Formats: sequence, C-alpha cells, structure tokens
Amino acid sequence: MKNISILGATGSIGTQTLDVIRNSKDEINLIGVTANSSVDKIKDIIKEFNPKYVGMMDNESADKVNKFCIENKLNIEVLSGLDGLEKIASLDEIEMVVTSVVGMIGLKPTLKAIEAKKDIALANKETLVVAGELVMKRAKEMGVEILPVDSEHSAIFQALNGYTEKDVSKIILTASGGPFRGKDIDYLKNVTVKEALKHPKWNMGQKISIDSATLMNKGLEVIEAHFLFDCPYENIQVVVHPQSIVHSMVEYKDASIIAQLGSADMRLPIQYAINKKERKDQIASRINFYEISQLTFEKPDLETFKCLKLAYEVGAQGGLAPTILNGANEEAVALLLEEKIKFLQIGDIIEDSLKYFNDEKNKELTIENIVELDRKVREYIRGRWN
Ligand code: NAD
Ligand code: MG
Repeated sequence: MKNISILGATGSIGTQTLDVIRNSKDEINLIGVTANSSVDKIKDIIKEFNPKYVGMMDNESADKVNKFCIENKLNIEVLSGLDGLEKIASLDEIEMVVTSVVGMIGLKPTLKAIEAKKDIALANKETLVVAGELVMKRAKEMGVEILPVDSEHSAIFQALNGYTEKDVSKIILTASGGPFRGKDIDYLKNVTVKEALKHPKWNMGQKISIDSATLMNKGLEVIEAHFLFDCPYENIQVVVHPQSIVHSMVEYKDASIIAQLGSADMRLPIQYAINKKERKDQIASRINFYEISQLTFEKPDLETFKCLKLAYEVGAQGGLAPTILNGANEEAVALLLEEKIKFLQIGDIIEDSLKYFNDEKNKELTIENIVELDRKVREYIRGRWN
C-alpha cells in the first residue's frame, strides 16, 4: 500500500488522479488532499476517500470544510493557507505527493515535500519553470524522484529508459497546436475567451487551456524539459502534431528515434508516475492503427504564436528571467479570463514585462528572489492593465 497526498485534488489532473486511485485495486491510499476553494468537490472527495488531512488555501472554505467534518463526526484535520498545503505535502505518513495545483503557488509546497524526502509526481510545470535548477538540485541531494505527469515529459521519460544526455541528440516535444492552429494574427485579433478555452484534444483546467491556445504551454514545457532531462535548449525541438497520438520523442546520437504513443488520456501518464514506472492495468482506451488514417507533423508558427518564441529566449537567459515570463503569463491569462484584455495582448504583456523587469533577471536565483519578483511582476501588470 502506497500513501500519497494530492495538491490540487479538485482540478483536472487532481480528478483524474482520483480515478487512477479508484483503478489501483487498493494499492494506493489517499492521506491528504488540498484545494483552493472548491468546498463541494472536496466534500465529495472526503465522502469517497476519507483522507486524514484536508487543506483549503482559502480560509473561509477551510472553515466550511471543518464544519462539515464536525457535523459528520469525521476525524479529519482541516488546515488552511499555504502552511496547510506545505504540511500536507510533507506528512510523515506519505511517501509521494502529486503536485497538481496550477501556477507557481506550488513552488513552496513542492520544496517542502522534497525536504521531507517525498517523491514527486509532478504536474505543476510552473514550479519547474521558475525554479527548475533549485528544485532538481535539491531533489538530487535528498534522493527524491521527480516523476513527470505532463504527457510529453512522461513520453520522454519513457523513451529515455535509462539513457542519459550523452546518448541523446535531441528531444522532440510534440504539440497539438491548440484551437488556433493554422490561424494568422488577423484572425486572432478577434477571438473570444470561449474559443480560446476550447481545446481540440484535451479537456483541461482553464489556465493551461489558454496556455495551449497561445502556445505558451509548449514554451513552459520546453523549459520544463530542459530542467527535467538536463537537455540544452538548442536540442529541444517543438513539432506540431495535431492528432496528439505521439506524445513526444527522443532522438539518439545514432539518429534512431524512440517515441511514446497512446490515446490522449492524462490518466496514463498519471498512473505511470504514481506507480514509479511500474506498468499497471489498462486505464485508457487502446490505439487502433486501422482507424488512425494518418499522423502528421508541422513546424510551429513562432511569429504568430510569439509566446513560444519568448519562452525559448527566456529559457536560454536562465536565472530569474523565467520567473518574469511565468508571472506575467499567469497574470495575463487571469486578465483574459476576466475579459479585461484581448487574446493577443497576452504575448504583448509578457514581452512588455520582460523589458520592464530586464534588470532584475540576473539577480541571484533564490526562492526568496523568485517569490518577490513574481509578486512585483503581477503588481505591475494589475496596475497597468486591470
Ligand atoms: P485546474 O485549474 O483544473 O486545477 C487546479 C487545482 O489547483 C484545483 O484543485 C484548485 O483548487 C487548486 N488551486 C488553484 N489555485 C490555487 C491556489 N492559489 N492555491 C492553492 N490551490 C489552488 O488545473 P489543471 O488543469 O488540473 O492543471 C494543474 C497543473 O497541471 C498545471 O500546472 C498544469 O499546467 C498541469 N497540467 C495539466 C494538464 C491537464 O490535462 N489538465 C496536463 C499537463 C499538465
Ligand atoms: Mg503537456
């Protein structure tokens, strides 16, 4: 029996992780769960999984969940705020944490988990984007495994199969292209939030859906791959593959390529990560090659989708530059969802913020500096575009 906590249990990845646990034949025991403010969803999780600890980021929501537990005579410790998330990520009883919160808010709880020697099934890519160097270094020092949940990174992880950077010539990250694949700037000027949220292949949380429409998601994934697999940016290539069957590939120095294929179902990479590479029973539908008539590949349009280009540039700059990119993106996406800006402004705001904070990017890379700069970037954006 493996004991785990899920940070962000009510979201898209969190919910699919619960499904993996349901499918695990009692091999996985859910000890701790957290959410931001989704009280009703957390109540359902409590009823079904009876965890020992629940953390709500929002204090009022924590009070409501606590009241529910008292009324139902449930022996559950309810925590609140970031301290609660950090505690649930580092409980003595657990051996692994699934980090499925959205945004760089996941950074400190992930580090707490690493300090407490918990393996990490990592979905929360923003944490690696802002602090990949620090997180990977600490994980190595603590002997902690970071198991990628992101489908592309899971694919690379599987295709690497023990080979290391000295054997690899490049990583080929596939991208679906999102809802606006093939469109030009003129078209994108007038797209609505609703259209941007409508991903052709995956059903995901709102923030990553917008990131997929701008191709920033792929940009964040390039940086994520750089840190996870210690691969130089010039050896990470993005290829648009609209069918989302080939989840990514590794090209070796002898020119041989190994790819991982499967249906577009996040439960596959989640199950693989939670079980630390052990193959378990079928959880997703099987691919029928007679039915897939073709698999196609294209070059991404970096001029129309400048977020991907910016991410490559920022990744190569390193230091605190990714913190500016990520903070600006998180805030711009929030503004789009609030319908305060237009779709194309996301890239403009990020570009502007990178210029505005240019002098900050070479400061020392520490957690304190990351958190402080992230706060300043968000404050700047809210001050100008709110
Ligand atoms: P989501 O919005 O569906 O869920 C986010 C979860 O985090 C929820 O449980 C929510 O309550 C919690 N949360 C939100 N804001 C919070 C805050 N400020 N403090 C504490 N908790 C908070 O998001 P998602 O689509 O499940 O994505 C989660 C992460 O996984 C993201 O980093 C995303 O990039 C990554 N990811 C998602 C998918 C996918 O298919 N959804 C695929 C690959 C990677
Ligand atoms: Mg992905």
